Amino acid sequence: MKIKNILFLLLVFTYYSAIAQLPAPDQLDTKNGKLVIQPIQHGTVAFKWNNKTIFVDPYGGTQGFAGLGDPDLILLTDIHGDHLDFKTLEGINTAKAVIVAPQAVAEKLTDNLKKKLVVLKNGDKTTQLGIQITAVPMYNLPEAPDAMHVKGRGNGYILNMGGKNVYLSGDTEDTPEVRGLKNIDVAFLSMNLPYTMDVNQAAQAVLAFRPKIVYPYHYRGQGGLSDVESFKKQVNADNKEIEVRLRNWYPNN
Ligand code: ZN
Repeated sequence: MKIKNILFLLLVFTYYSAIAQLPAPDQLDTKNGKLVIQPIQHGTVAFKWNNKTIFVDPYGGTQGFAGLGDPDLILLTDIHGDHLDFKTLEGINTAKAVIVAPQAVAEKLTDNLKKKLVVLKNGDKTTQLGIQITAVPMYNLPEAPDAMHVKGRGNGYILNMGGKNVYLSGDTEDTPEVRGLKNIDVAFLSMNLPYTMDVNQAAQAVLAFRPKIVYPYHYRGQGGLSDVESFKKQVNADNKEIEVRLRNWYPNN
């Protein structure tokens, strides 16, 4: 075999082994075709919808995004390194990307990342690329000025894509705003101590707002990975209609 062919095969293998570590993507029908949901890792998710590519909190290196194309929209939730990861942001081609972020994140962005910036406060809405985006508060309970996540700094998001509502919690506990969510088709919910909430709180939150589908995400805490099986059991013991999707968000652990 020629060296060129060997190098090519090596490249293909490396590419697919990087891809292969990701959970298989899921699909959901919307009024504008399929929404493709690609879990990446921890609090990082990618979507493909209506010929648009959307990254949420790109983190942990660029290999997870290989093959997804350049982002049209990037959503950032908070200032912490697992949500605002400059190394990963600099590694992806953000030239055409609208970036949606809260003010505290916006202040930290480089000029290069500020070109198409949209700043949202908790409760604000904007429509970008046909996607209605609503910023939802994310914070720790009880509210305290020295909490890891103080109310008002970070944003969770609801994205309406072709009539389907996708909720990304960011780092939050089961606040009244979370429990009061309505008409959520797909929810991504954080559950890790001491940063967000435990699986019991997360289950109670989900039973209150009853999304059709929920993905536990952002579940690596100080004591390792949270017991997402227990979360699923608790949710389905009270409500069998809610589909709990367990995916491996920590393929490299
Ligand atoms: Zn986090």
